[in-house]
Amino acid sequence: MHRYDENTDHLARSVFEYALERVRMDPPSLDGPKSAAYLREVVGETITPAGIGGHEALRLFVEHLAPACISVDHPRFLAFIPSAPSEASVLFDLVVAASSLYGGSWLESAGAVYAENEALSWLAGLAGLPETAGGAFVSGGTAGNLSALVAARAAAAERREHRPKRWALLATGRSHSSIQAAADVMDVDVVLVEPDRHGRMTGSALGKKLDELGDQREGLFAVVTTAGTTNLGVIDDLETIGYLAKTNDLWMHVDGAYGGAALAAPSRRHLFNGVEHADSIVLDPHKWLFAPFDCAALIYREPEVARRAHTQHAGYLDPINDRDEWNPSDYAHHLSRRARGLPFWYSLATYGTDAYRDAIEKTLHVADEAARAITDRPYVELLEEPTLSIVAFRRLGWEPSDYQAWSHRMLEEGIAFVLPSVFEGETMLRIAIVNPATTIDDIELILDALA
Ligand SMILES: *Cc1c(COP(=O)(O)O)cnc(C)c1O
Repeated sequence: MHRYDENTDHLARSVFEYALERVRMDPPSLDGPKSAAYLREVVGETITPAGIGGHEALRLFVEHLAPACISVDHPRFLAFIPSAPSEASVLFDLVVAASSLYGGSWLESAGAVYAENEALSWLAGLAGLPETAGGAFVSGGTAGNLSALVAARAAAAERREHRPKRWALLATGRSHSSIQAAADVMDVDVVLVEPDRHGRMTGSALGKKLDELGDQREGLFAVVTTAGTTNLGVIDDLETIGYLAKTNDLWMHVDGAYGGAALAAPSRRHLFNGVEHADSIVLDPHKWLFAPFDCAALIYREPEVARRAHTQHAGYLDPINDRDEWNPSDYAHHLSRRARGLPFWYSLATYGTDAYRDAIEKTLHVADEAARAITDRPYVELLEEPTLSIVAFRRLGWEPSDYQAWSHRMLEEGIAFVLPSVFEGETMLRIAIVNPATTIDDIELILDALA
């Protein structure tokens, strides 16, 4: 340990060989979960006083552990929100690991932070935020939403003379589950705005709610919009909400964890009009921007406000805090951090933003074709036209248990990973297409299996 000798070199070759083989797989095998009892039997105890050795541990991983994990980048992994990291991003993740970077401060990682900020600037520019906007890469949309809302509340507390009895944020029932989770952690109330029939928060519904609240508005500090809901991919009315946020002294947060990537797609950019009013925005490169887990971009219009909310203070941190430099640790609820924006940065730098635009447009095109293929088949029915790359539909005549059995069989047979979801009490199927390797043939294969 802690010595690079001949054995280490031998192990390095095996590890790199496997990593390369995995990156080359086209497509990877879908794989799937196994029971703990099964894994106990084939893998057994791995942590021993003497160690089992790197080659044996790698063998166990390759033969038993990796096949017990679903390959998120498989073109027919269409459940939840998949991930499709580019080759460059995955390879550079190895470099990040090998480089022992501490990504929290400029002092320790100026070069890495510079590159991460380049990637953040590109995203901020897509959203039409001012050049002074900035933030940090965090572990996911959940962490990003929480950190943004903590900054939002701190900003309101700074601005206002009186503390309310209870703080509250506005959202809809279609907001991601992480918004309620953030509210729970912060002990703030969630005031629900009624979504329209497509599941969007509109300016008029928000205005109505604000009127209804009357003088109970005192504790409101933020309105949480969603740009691409997780279930259906619809986008709130950012333009009017942005206006109302401004005139009502509310911080406008845009949760674009999934959908924000479509800011780069000219065919959908207009749906995001008003996003430039955001005080904070979250986009997950590990979803639709071709970066490996875990990587979410959190960007503030006025980073200084967030810095005051999040900077940790202690004698041992003075050497960092006393310098007037950009420290990613200042912009979220974290301190030590992996420079997790680097694989995304490297991918952007490698292929260029045009390739990103084209790849995202491609997935959108396949989603449109999928909608058409569903319309063409008598036994399935589209819930509604997709806004982005999530397509939701029902199999006519099926009970929830039919959906579950079918979904289970698809995974078991290594065909596809598609899960039912629930929309307004109804079980339905939902596919999320973020992988440019997913083709209409893949979708048709799945639709035919539903006949
Ligand atoms: C996925 C998602 C999140 C949560 O992101 P994680 O990276 O899984 O924490 C938040 N909001 C929306 C809209 C999402 O789709």
